[in-house]
Amino acid sequence: MKNLAHRNIPITIIGGGIHGISIALRLRREMPTTALAIVDRHPLPLTAWQRKTERQGMTFLRSPAVHHITPDALGIVEYAEHHNRNDELAPPYAQPSTPLFWDFCHDVLEEGIANGGERLLENGIYYQFDVAKLRWDKGAGSYPFRLVSTENVGFRSRCVILAIGSDDCAHVPQEFVPWQRRWPERIVHASRVSVSPGDCEGQRTKESPLALPTEQKPIAIVGGGLTAGTLARSLSERGHEVVLIARQPLKTEQFDFPPAWLGPKALAEFTRETGFQRRYEIIQQVRGAGSITPDIAKALKDAPRVAIYTDTCIRDITEERGKTLRLHLENSGITPEATKQPLGTIKNVSCVILATGYRFNLRRYPFLAELLTQHEVPLVRGLPRLDASLQLLPVTNLFGTGTIAQLQLGPAAGNIAGASLAYERLRKQILPQFA
Ligand SMILES: Cc1cc2nc3c(=O)[nH]c(=O)nc-3n(C[C@H](O)[C@H](O)[C@H](O)COP(=O)(O)OP(=O)(O)OC[C@H]3O[C@@H](n4cnc5c(N)ncnc54)[C@H](O)[C@@H]3O)c2cc1C
Repeated sequence: MKNLAHRNIPITIIGGGIHGISIALRLRREMPTTALAIVDRHPLPLTAWQRKTERQGMTFLRSPAVHHITPDALGIVEYAEHHNRNDELAPPYAQPSTPLFWDFCHDVLEEGIANGGERLLENGIYYQFDVAKLRWDKGAGSYPFRLVSTENVGFRSRCVILAIGSDDCAHVPQEFVPWQRRWPERIVHASRVSVSPGDCEGQRTKESPLALPTEQKPIAIVGGGLTAGTLARSLSERGHEVVLIARQPLKTEQFDFPPAWLGPKALAEFTRETGFQRRYEIIQQVRGAGSITPDIAKALKDAPRVAIYTDTCIRDITEERGKTLRLHLENSGITPEATKQPLGTIKNVSCVILATGYRFNLRRYPFLAELLTQHEVPLVRGLPRLDASLQLLPVTNLFGTGTIAQLQLGPAAGNIAGASLAYERLRKQILPQFA
């Protein structure tokens, strides 16, 4: 792998996940000779995505086959046909299996399909580089950005696209903070566990998942969204007793936002709203508190070892003699007429998994801290108030794609399809600079 040290790179994408790679593939089509670098802390692109899906035991994507990393809508469908894998496209929307999605992405990156035969990996575009600091020296010539790695290697760039996902923003509800402090190995966020014991073996790093207890005691999962449902199914299939605790009734939906949000009409209405706080509220309303897909709903109904408590929350957690936990439940009180009442206890719980999602907050990315403060980048509920071309003004030529772009792209921004929406905005600002 070539070295970035001391080089001047026209466009740098920070993050080699679904969004970073999607944007890179699109840029390469329109400006093939431009020097482009994708930097990511992992040795290979899409590592974060592959890990997340494997650790949860996710078997099929939620989104249809037309949403993937390249701009060719039929890419995965044709790939499945070519490899005799049509049975890995699930009805009714041809949702791809996770192995099919992954193999397709892998071939795109390795073989250069959909990329004019150019291999992203072999052409020195992807660099393992953990960005520890991003600086913008306004007026410092054509390459005003300086990126420095955790190993103190630096290079300059003219334009930077943040495609950093939201993994650094795992959300732990307030009431769980003291319990988690007391039992850090037993009360864990879903992003830190894996249903595959093999994942937890070998040398431990800060990204290694925690091993789930092997004793045959119930595992509690808190949450009512797809992560909670998928983990419950995966753990029960692997022989665990599971207790799923959700504040609301489980809602079943194929998609996590209405597909109209990918169309121009909904987005035009959204951007007509000039108040960014109001835009934030619209996104919360549209995405709601999470839902599960019909196949997960069916799997949970049929699962022999899953007990589901809805309209319920945990009032207290105490330790039992054998170091197991006792959960004291109460009515969640979300339904207006309901008043909080104790609902009994669950004994012998080996651990509590918080499938409580992510709350994006740009301030949780240390490499951006100085830049945000120095240039007073305005944030609304932790999200930047990007301009229409997704720039984090007043810093020019610093763009965002993924969850970070929600206040411009609406509820679909963080999903796979959000990358196409983002690219349409970015290209208008970026391409003319390199024409
Ligand atoms: C289990 C799961 C299933 C999902 N299924 C679907 C689905 O079916 N359909 C759908 O549309 N969406 C789905 N999503 C939502 C979304 O598409 C994914 O979360 C997707 O991975 C988001 O892509 P991303 O590129 O924004 O983030 P990521 O994939 O998280 O990539 C961000 C990258 O940035 C890198 N990075 C961050 N900070 C730095 C730094 N300082 N230096 C270097 N690198 C850095 C990280 O290493 C990471 O590789 C799913 C999400 C999860 C968790």
